[in-house]
Amino acid sequence: MDGPRFRDPQDRLRNLAGEPILVVCPRCSGRASVTRERPTCAGCALVRVPPEPRLPAWMTAAKHRDEVLRTVAKLRATLS
Ligand SMILES: [Zn+2]
Repeated sequence: MDGPRFRDPQDRLRNLAGEPILVVCPRCSGRASVTRERPTCAGCALVRVPPEPRLPAWMTAAKHRDEVLRTVAKLRATLS
């Protein structure tokens, strides 16, 4: 019999490493590094701030409130 199904823990490379990870800069192809917070490149001064997770606009529009709340309730019911 097979073991429990694997669930992706959503670990990202930057979360696993204590030291900055060297990568190729997407802008200048020089040496950039990725720290826990963001990728940076000393060659071209690239700094990328990771985007904040956001809900889609249709979901936050007041006119969809009832539909969103109904769907959240359905999803909650599947957790038990
Ligand atoms: Zn660069």
